[in-house]
Amino acid sequence: MKFSTMLIASVLVSLAALSASYGYARRDLGAPERPLWATTIDDLKQICALKLAAAAQYEREAEAAKSAQNAPNALQRQLYEALAHSEHIHVRNYMRALNKLGSRYVCRALAPEMGVATQSGLQRSIAMERYLVDERHEQSILNALDDNSKYAARIVAWTSGGDVKHILLLEQCALACEGRCEAPSGYAVCPVCGNTSDCEHEDCYCPFCMTPSGDYVRFLVDMSAK
Ligand SMILES: [Zn+2]
Repeated sequence: MKFSTMLIASVLVSLAALSASYGYARRDLGAPERPLWATTIDDLKQICALKLAAAAQYEREAEAAKSAQNAPNALQRQLYEALAHSEHIHVRNYMRALNKLGSRYVCRALAPEMGVATQSGLQRSIAMERYLVDERHEQSILNALDDNSKYAARIVAWTSGGDVKHILLLEQCALACEGRCEAPSGYAVCPVCGNTSDCEHEDCYCPFCMTPSGDYVRFLVDMSAK
């Protein structure tokens, strides 16, 4: 047998052996049933949908608050506009995280409830935020870390901290509308992570993403409203 023929035969035998051992290895390890990062991608898409719904609801509430020229409504209008802006920033960040994982979110039409701009509207908003903070964010962060997606985990951690601030601001607004605490002069939203604070308690740098306060987007309350 010629040397070249022997060489080709030897290569073919090696390839066959490699192919067989790869087949055994796949059988031993088990082929993956779900694509990489599937849990994190599912989480991000679900929260994205909830955040879009929250933004739409806050826009409805802000619209309802425009109807009356009184101090509680002026305060609620600016809070809801700030919260809607913050929610849109959260959605943008979730979409970026999805893109990094090779996926994307397709926005769907949403049907928010009628805005009421009353105490019941504030309590409904608090319940919506509490659901995300108490039931969803912690598990999403753990899932993202399990999936080895630190970028997604950081985005959810920013959102979780931001949603806790939303709850505090809504509770403060509910008290202020009843005259039980001083009303803030407005709200500031970090354009990078969506962190929201009242203008009296804003940090020099965003505590989540370190954006300087000079870059915050501000929603100032019309103090002439009575
Ligand atoms: Zn920030």
